[in-house]
Amino acid sequence: MTAMAATTTMMTQPKKGWKSRSNETDWQEQAEQKRKALMQSITDAIAALAAETDEVRASETLARYFKTVSQFHRYSLHNQILIWLQKPEATLVAGYRTWQQKFNRCVKKGEKGIAILAPRIYKPKEDEDSKEGGERTYEGGTVLLSTLSSEEGDQPAPRRRIYFTTVYVFDVSQTEGDPLPDEPEWRERSKDLDFEQRLTAFAASRGITVEIVDDDEMNGAEGRSFGGKIQLLPQSGSHTFVHELAHELYEHCKAEVREQTTRQQREIEADTAAHVVCQHFGIPSSSANYLALWQAGKEDILGCMERVRGVAIELIEAIEGSHQQEEVPA
Ligand SMILES: [Zn+2]
Repeated sequence: MTAMAATTTMMTQPKKGWKSRSNETDWQEQAEQKRKALMQSITDAIAALAAETDEVRASETLARYFKTVSQFHRYSLHNQILIWLQKPEATLVAGYRTWQQKFNRCVKKGEKGIAILAPRIYKPKEDEDSKEGGERTYEGGTVLLSTLSSEEGDQPAPRRRIYFTTVYVFDVSQTEGDPLPDEPEWRERSKDLDFEQRLTAFAASRGITVEIVDDDEMNGAEGRSFGGKIQLLPQSGSHTFVHELAHELYEHCKAEVREQTTRQQREIEADTAAHVVCQHFGIPSSSANYLALWQAGKEDILGCMERVRGVAIELIEAIEGSHQQEEVPA
């Protein structure tokens, strides 16, 4: 922080190679004080973010947004993959009739549906029931995948069979009609090139590869962390850069870390750290919206105070360090 640099009043510059004990103590004291002040400002920033996130969560805008989103069906992983393969940029997906009835929107003329599999239950007639499981084709080309039978020891229940049939769904971009409530803006795209150069140098010093990739590889995300490698869009903001580096420093990709944490926790830690670092350097942040979308409460954010402090200090000191080194004339 520039204010901090200004307060470190310089004593008469010691001559090269000459060190006095009292000067050394002064420097140590100053370094300690600087760190204390940094800790305090980080603590204040986290507390302010927690309060701001709670405000966003209580807002009418977010309530409207969640109400709409909750009406969309949560697709199975298999179907999510099918949707992604056919339309990677899809965000909100629903069937033709759901768009009409729930959202008063129509599928635009000529739009091609996204094929997914929907489970159906089929009750076979008595004589068909003797045949076990297996594959069979019914009307409309549907395939029988499994059978449901009664629990062991129960009276034999009528057998039901689950099969899957192809249905078509459409992304919001393929529909028109009543507007949907806007998603609170969580993408912070401001870029500070000088700051990003320092982040790139920091990443290199930690052996973290930084890759710039196209939108279609990112599946709607602004950035991704893989453990030793991060990916960003060309238009991702500096805040996202810090967010992904924070994931790396927390080692969120490691299996043992993933087992002990939830996705929500990992996002809270990374984004709170990114917010604190960005605020320190005057880079804009939209963390309150992002964290509110992750349904993070004040307590969740304050609960990761210690872990955020550690990573934020590491990043801030490394970035400031590279800044100071550059200022020393060769
Ligand atoms: Zn993340």
